[in-house]
Amino acid sequence: MGFRTAVLDLDENSPAGMIAHAHIAADYVDAAGIALLVEECEAITTEFENVPASTLAALAIHRRVFPSAASVTVCQHRAREKAHFLQSGVPCAPYFVLEAPDDLQKVAPAHFPAILKSSTLGYDGKGQINVPDAGSLAPAWASLGSVPCVLEKRVDLVAEFSIVVARGHDGAMVHLPVQQNLHRDGILAITQVPAPDISEQVAGRARDHAKAIAASLDYVGVMCVEFFLLRDGTVLANEVAPRPHNSGHYSIDACDVSQFELQVRTLAGLPLVTPRLHSHAVMLNLLGDLWFVHGDTAVEPPWPTVLALPGVHLHLYGKSQPRRGRKMGHVTITAADSATAQSVAQTVAQIIGISPP
Ligand code: ADP
Ligand code: MG
Repeated sequence: MGFRTAVLDLDENSPAGMIAHAHIAADYVDAAGIALLVEECEAITTEFENVPASTLAALAIHRRVFPSAASVTVCQHRAREKAHFLQSGVPCAPYFVLEAPDDLQKVAPAHFPAILKSSTLGYDGKGQINVPDAGSLAPAWASLGSVPCVLEKRVDLVAEFSIVVARGHDGAMVHLPVQQNLHRDGILAITQVPAPDISEQVAGRARDHAKAIAASLDYVGVMCVEFFLLRDGTVLANEVAPRPHNSGHYSIDACDVSQFELQVRTLAGLPLVTPRLHSHAVMLNLLGDLWFVHGDTAVEPPWPTVLALPGVHLHLYGKSQPRRGRKMGHVTITAADSATAQSVAQTVAQIIGISPP
């Protein structure tokens, strides 16, 4: 769209930094780096929710910053986020906030089995521990360093799905189709669109919830809301990413407007349009583990074999070192129908060593 971009990221090998017009290799709280970003940019957004809200607030004195520091403050903190869901009329899994040792006594016996999650800085299942019963709570909390946490009741999931919405400064909102997600070890593994197990009625409820959350935050930008579908048909909000989300990456190849274009449009104050899904899609995340299927020396997966298949779109992020559990890229398989997308995805998975979808 003709914009120049600058990226602030401490990592000299930052994938985004490598493809931007300018890379400011500074920490998120580095005053000189922040000043340089203000000098370089007319409008600023974040791709990572753990940029300190104070940095966003400092930038917002001089420049347009979306999402706002206030929105990010809510999404950075699980207890605040859940309170915001309930305030917006959006149900979530029952939870207790644990901040002081006394709080451990307040948890009802019926709340177990549960999952303990640190209120801040968790992602990809990090900062989370299973708590099967009341007796395991104190050691679990201690093992997370007794930091502020939420203790969430473990719910009976039949499916996980998410939805990306974008909201402009004028309050106009658009959404992408809901996507169904499969997590493995707490990390997103596979996304499928259209979502095979999500009815139009459930999708509609999730859309309403996501839009209620965005509107009550007076949110500007792209956000993704993760949901749980329970056996009895209940839809619960899990968490919000105040940015484009891994589960929305399929939109690059399967929609006429991607989540990233929506992010640019919200930031630049351009009109938002509802993206059209033009292909059925399966997205497979590429974790660093795939580089080590033959042993401890990193070996590049056989991309030419994968790229010989129809409808395969390979996205490698250019991270310098593969590591187990690290997201190195993703593959989106597009097709005219879900059965074909699914079948090619199975073949790709088999070639590179992912357990089949
Ligand atoms: P993260 O920030 O790591 O994505 P999440 O809260 O989304 O953390 O949890 C990661 C995954 O763990 C979820 O996608 C889901 O598969 C599982 N999970 C989280 N909370 C619950 C819950 N209350 N009941 C059942 N499964 C859960
Ligand atoms: Mg999550």
